[in-house]
Amino acid sequence: MTGTSLVLLGPPGAGKGTQAARLEAASGFPHVATGDMLRMARSAGTPLGDRAKAYMDRGDLVPDDVIIGLIEERLSEDDAMKGVILDGFPRNPAQAKELDRLMETMGRELPLAVHIKVSREEVLARLTGRLVCERCQEAYHVMTRPPKTIGVCDKCGGRLVTRSDDSPETVRHRLQVYEEMTAPLIVYYGDLGRLREVDGERPVDDVARELLEAIS
Ligand code: ADP
Ligand code: AMP
Repeated sequence: MTGTSLVLLGPPGAGKGTQAARLEAASGFPHVATGDMLRMARSAGTPLGDRAKAYMDRGDLVPDDVIIGLIEERLSEDDAMKGVILDGFPRNPAQAKELDRLMETMGRELPLAVHIKVSREEVLARLTGRLVCERCQEAYHVMTRPPKTIGVCDKCGGRLVTRSDDSPETVRHRLQVYEEMTAPLIVYYGDLGRLREVDGERPVDDVARELLEAIS
């Protein structure tokens, strides 16, 4: 990987977090997931976490000013200087424009986006069986990627939980929000010549290989 930051695009359940963790291990670039950052703020009971709670529980986007403040701070940290793997950000055109503006101000290369393509049926099946580690956020699936010990993370021994927004009703709303607000980013990055696409319905290792090829 070069010094260019990556934006992972795709609906909830496309495998962005799963692939970002692998890319982080392969490249040394930090995995920056705004959803994980917000969940951490919530469990720490910070004012930002409290403000985000109602939006997240409904499956709506948290206001841009909250997210942009969070990302600006994260991009200024030392380990983010070489480049980052963005998962869950940007989520709408205003956030994408702000990201480019921030990168330009910081004198960094503009990010490349990769669209992980997955059908609606597949994401519904994935999200309704998803389990996540509450400590390190690693994703599992009750059927397709069960942990070695029930309820325990293979990587860090943390407790595995079902995300409260992975209920069938909230998932449907999140997919609608994705189509309306986030899917236009595929056109946004495509028009700028900064988009690659990968087939996200293949096994995790195959998607990871395709992703590395797409960005190399
Ligand atoms: P996102 O971060 O895009 O919401 P996750 O990485 O959390 O998605 O993956 C959602 C669910 O799908 C998890 O249960 C994960 O284990 C599973 N999953 C991820 N990639 C694949 C894949 N290529 N094939 C099958 N299941 C996958
Ligand atoms: P995720 O873990 O990416 O599925 O995000 C979980 C929830 O966090 C979303 O449904 C939103 O409520 C909120 N969220 C995460 N990232 C963003 C973002 N970039 N903009 C607005 N809301 C976000």
